[in-house]
Amino acid sequence: MSMQVKQSILKIHPYKQGESEVNGVKATIKLSSNESSLGPSPRAKAAFIKAAQELNRYPDGGQTELRKAIAEAYQLPADQIVCGNGSEELIQLLIRAYCSEGDEVLMSENGFVMCKIHSLAQGAVPVFAPEKNDCIDVDALLQRVSSKTRMVILANPNNPTGTYVTRSEVERLHAGLRDDILLLLDGAYAEYVSREDYTAGASLVQENDNVVMTRTFSKIYGLSALRIGWAYCPISVIDIVQRIRTPFNTNSPALAAAAAAVLDVDYTETVRRHNQKWLDRFQAALPKIGIDMLESVTNFYLLRFPTNQNRTMQGADAALKSQGIIPRPTQVGDSQELRITIGNDAENEAVLAVLKDYMAA
Ligand SMILES: *Cc1c(COP(=O)(O)O)cnc(C)c1O
Repeated sequence: MSMQVKQSILKIHPYKQGESEVNGVKATIKLSSNESSLGPSPRAKAAFIKAAQELNRYPDGGQTELRKAIAEAYQLPADQIVCGNGSEELIQLLIRAYCSEGDEVLMSENGFVMCKIHSLAQGAVPVFAPEKNDCIDVDALLQRVSSKTRMVILANPNNPTGTYVTRSEVERLHAGLRDDILLLLDGAYAEYVSREDYTAGASLVQENDNVVMTRTFSKIYGLSALRIGWAYCPISVIDIVQRIRTPFNTNSPALAAAAAAVLDVDYTETVRRHNQKWLDRFQAALPKIGIDMLESVTNFYLLRFPTNQNRTMQGADAALKSQGIIPRPTQVGDSQELRITIGNDAENEAVLAVLKDYMAA
C-alpha cells in the first residue's frame, strides 16, 4: 500500500524561480526576479558581517531589535509586528491559521503564486477574480466573496503588472467584506510608491481586527538572500501567529542586517530615486520604439509587444538573452509579456540598447 498524500497537494505545480543562466552560463545581467541591482545599505552588510561572529548562538526568538527598528522607521507599535522567513512565510502562516479544508482564499487573477500554493497545501480553494485594464478590480473581487471565503489577499502594487489600486479602492474592498474575513495586504513593493492616493494599509490594520499588512526586505532593501519580511497585525492575529511560528524562523544575520537597513532611511531614498528616474526614462523611451509599457509604480515594468509587426515577446526575450540579459516572460490574461526588473544604470542602458535594436531590425 502506498502512502496517502493530501489530495489538494497534487494540484500544486512547484514554484519556478526566475532564471539566472543563459545556456548554462551565469548571466551577467539578471533582471528576472525583481531584486535590487544596487544591493543593500552598506550598514546592513556591516551588521551581517558582525553577526557572523556569533553563529554559534541561537537567534533572538523575540525578534526584539528588528521589531523595534521597524516600529521606529514606520511609526508602528512594535508589539504588533512579527517577522518571518520572507514575507512569504508570514502569508503561509496566516493561511494555515485561518483556512481549513474547503475554505476559499480569494485573490486577483495575477495574484502572487505562493498564495495559491499555500492555499492548496492547506486544502483550501483559491478563487481568482479577473482584472480590468491590467489593474485589480475591486468589484470583481467583491462579486466572488462567498459564505466560504475566509481570506482575501491583495498584492498592492501588484506583480507582474506593476500597477496599484488607490487607498479609497482598498477601503471600499474592506468595507464590502464580512468581519470574519481576513484581508491580507501584501505591500512587497510599497516603498517604491510615491503617489498621494496610495496606502500600503497601515491605518486599515490600526482601525480594524481583520486586516494584516505584510512587507519584505527582499525588494527595496536588497536583502533577498537573507529571507526576511514582516507583518503588521491586530493583537488578536499576532497572538495566533505566535502560536504556530517556529521560535527561530528568522536567523541572526538576517535580523541584524534588516534592522540596519530599515534605519538607513537616506540609502533607501537613494534607491527609490534611482528607481523612479529609470521608470520615467523607460516610460518615455519605450513607446517611441513601439513597445507598450504598463505604467509601473514598482521596481519592474511589464512590456507588451505589437501583434502586427513580427516583433514578439519571444523575440525580444531571445535578443536580450543573447546579450546575457535575463528578463522574465509572463502572461497577463491572454497576452504574453516580458517583465523586466529595473537594474543599475549600465544594466538599464544595455536593456534599452537591445530593445531599440530589436524593434528597428
Ligand atoms: C517579491 C514579492 C514578495 C516578497 O516575498 P519574500 O518572501 O518577502 O521574499 C511578496 N509578494 C509579492 C507579490 C512579491 O512580488
